[in-house]
Amino acid sequence: MTTEPVEHRRMIIAGTGIAGLTAAIYAGRSNNAPLVLEGDEPGGQLTLTSDVANYPGFPDGIGGPELVNRMKEQAEQFGAELDHGVVSHVEKRNDGRILVELSDDTRYTTDAFIAASGASARTLGVPGEDELMGYGVSTCATCDGAFFRGEDMLVVGGGDAAMEEANFLTKFADTVYIAHRRENFRAEDYWIDRVQEKADDGEIEIMRNTELLEVHGSPEDGVDHVTLARNDEGYPKDNLDDPGTETVDLDVGAVFVAIGHTPNTDYLEGTDVEMDETGYLKTAGGDGGGQTETAVEGIFGAGDVVDHHYQQAVTAGGMGSKAAIDADEYLEDLPEVEAGTAETQAAEGDD
Ligand SMILES: Cc1cc2nc3c(=O)[nH]c(=O)nc-3n(C[C@H](O)[C@H](O)[C@H](O)COP(=O)(O)OP(=O)(O)OC[C@H]3O[C@@H](n4cnc5c(N)ncnc54)[C@H](O)[C@@H]3O)c2cc1C
Repeated sequence: MTTEPVEHRRMIIAGTGIAGLTAAIYAGRSNNAPLVLEGDEPGGQLTLTSDVANYPGFPDGIGGPELVNRMKEQAEQFGAELDHGVVSHVEKRNDGRILVELSDDTRYTTDAFIAASGASARTLGVPGEDELMGYGVSTCATCDGAFFRGEDMLVVGGGDAAMEEANFLTKFADTVYIAHRRENFRAEDYWIDRVQEKADDGEIEIMRNTELLEVHGSPEDGVDHVTLARNDEGYPKDNLDDPGTETVDLDVGAVFVAIGHTPNTDYLEGTDVEMDETGYLKTAGGDGGGQTETAVEGIFGAGDVVDHHYQQAVTAGGMGSKAAIDADEYLEDLPEVEAGTAETQAAEGDD
């Protein structure tokens, strides 16, 4: 059996999105000197957008990266330590401490762990999508819809999110097109009915059995048009050589990819932290304190990693502050081990 030193930290936060950074600001101010691990996407999803127009306090809007950098500065000012690191495994040990392993094999123990590791929007992987992400291609209609007022817009997807986004975008769009690769939508009847009403009014055009093949445009001029494939049998992309598949170009000024998010929770799978069937963390919720507690004492969840509905910067920040307060209240009852203390701990067989 190998042994190695493991550094102990009072609190570790996974993620430097809005939830993690807000938690870090609050935890720093509560003298919990959190170690905040950046993950693969320092700053989180908001760094993908150049204009955040709905974050309170910035009437002229603010760039996503600038907002994140200001929050990082604020967190560090209150004693948070930001570091690179991707959490790969978390385990609650029998002694009550939480073991946190990183993908580079660094190991920490901590008394309180806040999972603020967000969710990643799923994308299609079609040509033009990556290049134009933030320049007319978006995964967030609530965030970006208003920038394309008066344009024709395409929504890709057939679930609740796609229906909701299409419905929302009719406020701004000339026509909203929905491309769904099958005949039937997966969405709830409520959303299908709302969309059908708008389709009857001519605000939405539904394109069933249709898939996006390519987005054309440039970062300078935005989206110019898209190429779509259609086949009455569904899944046209898988049947491009089929004589029943036709490809068409459609002029649109924006594309919203609404095919779901994947919460970043793999590293919690070996714990008793509860998740829903898609991997979103379940927290206590409800009224009063402890709303961000998970089923494992000392592990808290905040932001998009918990919330599959609102998924906004301001709601993520709100949950981040709650998690730091909940964690601080939890820590009050635990004896303090000096942060940075190294213990020699078995690399395997901890339990
Ligand atoms: C293009 C786009 C535009 C948007 N515009 C707006 C807007 O204008 N207004 C608005 O309110 N909202 C907007 N949103 C939504 C908003 O960005 C999210 O709701 C918010 O960022 C969620 O914050 P979060 O901290 O929960 O998660 P995220 O922002 O997803 O951050 C997650 C963090 O966790 C880290 N992480 C992941 N896995 C690990 C791991 N294993 N170990 C350690 N760290 C890890 C990541 O690296 C990242 O730092 C937009 C989203 C997108 C995609």
